[in-house]
Amino acid sequence: MRALPVSLFDTATPLEPLRERLHAAAAQVLDSGRYILGPEVAAFERELADHLGVRHVVGVANGTDALSLALMGMGVGPGDDVVVPSFTFYASVEAIADLGARPVFCDVDPDTACVTPQAVSAALTADTKAVVTVDLFGNVAPNEEIEALGVPVLEDAAQAIGGSRNGRAAGSFGTVATLSFFPSKNLGAFGDAGAVATDDDAVAERVRMLRFHGSRDKQTFELVGRNSRLDELQAALLRVQLPELDGWAAARRAVAREYAEAGLGELVALPAPVAGAEPAWHLYVVRSAHAEALEAALNAAGIGARRYYTVPVHRQPAMAGVAPGLELPMTDELARTNLALPMSPALQADQVAEVVASVRACASGST
Ligand SMILES: *Cc1c(COP(=O)(O)O)cnc(C)c1O
Repeated sequence: MRALPVSLFDTATPLEPLRERLHAAAAQVLDSGRYILGPEVAAFERELADHLGVRHVVGVANGTDALSLALMGMGVGPGDDVVVPSFTFYASVEAIADLGARPVFCDVDPDTACVTPQAVSAALTADTKAVVTVDLFGNVAPNEEIEALGVPVLEDAAQAIGGSRNGRAAGSFGTVATLSFFPSKNLGAFGDAGAVATDDDAVAERVRMLRFHGSRDKQTFELVGRNSRLDELQAALLRVQLPELDGWAAARRAVAREYAEAGLGELVALPAPVAGAEPAWHLYVVRSAHAEALEAALNAAGIGARRYYTVPVHRQPAMAGVAPGLELPMTDELARTNLALPMSPALQADQVAEVVASVRACASGST
């Protein structure tokens, strides 16, 4: 059986209806002569803050800088411990180490791929200044329960914009939340972009200064910051897409339901939403003891499939000295068994059926 090609991501199809408006927005910025921290950035920050239900959004250059500046805004620095899952994109941890703080790795729940209050609790030390929770794959971590442990939370919502939990938007939890608009994320720029979201006036003020060299007025430099600004062009292009975000997330959830209804759960373990969560399903990541063979067989059949974070962060060369000998059994299990299958708001029912048929064929060894 030769499958129809189905790609892992499809960022282009959802943008087709917006093509003219995106081109018009870009042309308007090019003609405006304002390229850095102008009216488009200010409008995007206001609109995204309203969308998330937070008081402040500060646009920055990318999601990694958002993490660094948010941690700096929370006062994290040398000598501090920051609890973070090891099963995440490297940047969640890199931003901690970059500030001279120590990442303290915790395990995750294999069914949700997110941290749990128990895992965070077990990792707390006398020097813990903050916890970076990660809304991995678009699931929404139990941020409120982790905050209730009494430790400040940074919600890394890079993969979860469009999701929610208990009626609150992903990207609105914790003391501060960070977002990435890398092109393949659920809300994607046409280049690099990111944002910090918070209800805390003081943190917002600090992050706003830090993104421009620690200055409010470009004359007096109060802090050692960064140059990490969001471009007008990216802000204008993001503004065109923001009103579509919730519809796209709902379409992703519909695809997840179709996968389940087509019997995918008989073949592999399906991802479980965190209790109370409406995930944004940035990636639809299943688990199988045969993930590696399945990945190869699906790719050979023209179906996009990819294993993520196969070497968890605590086992990466740059982290060799951080926690030698640390064992995180659920993290290792996820690293070994996870497999992302095609997911996008544009995925059609016949493509879902095709993916499930291919997984079934691979599982029975008949490809
Ligand atoms: C993408 C991502 C980041 C980093 O975002 P960039 O914009 O690529 O710097 C951080 N954390 C997580 C979980 C991500 O998926």
